[in-house]
Amino acid sequence: MKIGVLALQGAVREQIRQIEQLGCEGIEVKSQADLQGLTGLVLPGGESTTMRKLLDRFQLLEPIRSLAQKGLPMFGTCAGLILLAKQVAGRNEPHLGLMDIVIERNSFGRQVDSFEVELSVRGVGDDIPAVFIRAPHIVSAGEDVEILARLDGRIVLAKEGHYLGCAFHPELTEDIRIMQYFVEMVNKTLLAKNSSI
Ligand code: GLN
Repeated sequence: MKIGVLALQGAVREQIRQIEQLGCEGIEVKSQADLQGLTGLVLPGGESTTMRKLLDRFQLLEPIRSLAQKGLPMFGTCAGLILLAKQVAGRNEPHLGLMDIVIERNSFGRQVDSFEVELSVRGVGDDIPAVFIRAPHIVSAGEDVEILARLDGRIVLAKEGHYLGCAFHPELTEDIRIMQYFVEMVNKTLLAKNSSI
């Protein structure tokens, strides 16, 4: 399996490391050519407005949106989740606008900029370490969105079909269970595709 990581800015190497720990090939995506042949794509954390500018500059926004609409599984973490959302609080237009959620930026940022907690994640485990860095949260989600984890009542991990969205940084810990969850989603998508041929 070839899993790409958008590599314009942000926590890229840590994502590649987790992908490779799971026996998949991790590909840095910097241009349209790098998108060819991917079976999944990770949109990492960083700074969403900067990433958006770079997506425009390297003409990647439309190609990524179109692959997503064709069913390519995507995993957005933190800034990557902001890119995935259909609505970003305070903005008129979303970025990729794919996942049926409303997202608010810097939700945990005022009191503490960065912290680590253990979260209970549905179907994955009740001791998942999660690093929050000026993290967003999901304010509301459409009816097809499955809520996987909350922190202080706020949604911080959710899945909708082939999209997985995470407000924190699983890749900054040694725990690979959330990436494994995504790899399983990629696997299921591949199996479904093969059986439909
Ligand atoms: N606060 C950042 C943003 O709005 C996201 C932070 C992160 O990815 N760690 O884009």
